[in-house]
Amino acid sequence: MILSAKQLDHYAELAVKVGVNVQSGQTVVIMAPIAAANLVRRIAASAYEAGARHVHVEYNDEELSLIKYRLAPEEALGEYPMWRARSMEEYAENGAAFIQIYAPNPDLLDGVDASRISTATRAAAQALSKYRAYLMNHTNSWTLISYATPEWAAKVFPGLAVDEAVSKLWEKIIDATRLNAEDPIQAWKKHNETLLQKVEQLNAKRYKQLRYEGPGTSLTVDLPEHHVWLGGAKGNGEGNLFNPNMPTEEVFTMPHKDSVNGTVRSTKPLNYNGQVIDGFSLTFKNGKVIDFTAEQGADALTKMLETDEGAGSLGEIALVPHDSPISNSNIIFYNTLFDENASCHLALGQAYPVNLDGGPEMKPEELAAHGANRSLIHVDFMIGSADLNIDGVTPDGKTEAIFRNGNWAI
Ligand code: ZN
Ligand code: ZN
Repeated sequence: MILSAKQLDHYAELAVKVGVNVQSGQTVVIMAPIAAANLVRRIAASAYEAGARHVHVEYNDEELSLIKYRLAPEEALGEYPMWRARSMEEYAENGAAFIQIYAPNPDLLDGVDASRISTATRAAAQALSKYRAYLMNHTNSWTLISYATPEWAAKVFPGLAVDEAVSKLWEKIIDATRLNAEDPIQAWKKHNETLLQKVEQLNAKRYKQLRYEGPGTSLTVDLPEHHVWLGGAKGNGEGNLFNPNMPTEEVFTMPHKDSVNGTVRSTKPLNYNGQVIDGFSLTFKNGKVIDFTAEQGADALTKMLETDEGAGSLGEIALVPHDSPISNSNIIFYNTLFDENASCHLALGQAYPVNLDGGPEMKPEELAAHGANRSLIHVDFMIGSADLNIDGVTPDGKTEAIFRNGNWAI
């Protein structure tokens, strides 16, 4: 199955109305792989219909990226065009909404030297850091959606012919994004309300610490005093609601960057910049990774952790029940947008300032003093399973169950 014209229109409308909630007169920037051009055109049309003033599209071609990683001189990989970074900043400054279609080939850079990849990702992250702050502060609306490409589908369903694999992946995307609901926009409204209930419940608890126990995992994570749980729709700088991820099943907050201790084991493979890292464990002391092992992708993990000072500390903790729609499909997507929404996860690197009361208005030093981690990277990795138990320590020192056997206990 490829999506019908009608399904594509609905998907586009969902990205425009629920994803970024385009406002009249707003500019919309779409970033997408060339394979997704038919969806991009529909998103553009839907955005103009919703009142957009300009729609700007940035296409990327993975095969060209691969050619560059293979053949470009080493020093070129450390250079990022500043005009492009400035153009993104300018769009953000002027209140644009950003829609990214995220569908990388998980094995694209298999065999490419991990240090060449990390040089390029670091250069891009440095150049784009101002632009990224607009997104991470939720100043601008942004959303990530996905698209079933043949390369990605073949990785998810290796036993199937490519056409069948693409069909099957579309089915999963349709389910996970609630496109099959009678009224998808209404379905998202309801879903956001459900997530908000959990958020309010957790915010009322004011947990000081979370304790994770599972196979290969025994970890304590302190939460900053003024942490804020978030989930579902968020308000941007203008107060308009948007959904940063479609699908989304998580509620998340920030850990205290200096108070994470113990060991955590991954439960799903991680697609990091075109390389797969799998079967890995991280050991933390006072917030820093002091030891790690990986069955696959150890080089990529090493380079990731070496990115900068904050790359070896946590910036996000997210709770997702094991019994959730994406998880129940029992599929490993090799795409963090899907896998993170099937599993409790943590993120190495930058914390979202919005996870701290007043965080978006704080200077970097203030954020750090409150326990917010700072880094060029933000990489989610999955730690949830049917065997994961999580306890919360309340402000008066009592311990209570938050997760039992992978699912909500509160
Ligand atoms: Zn997350
Ligand atoms: Zn994250």
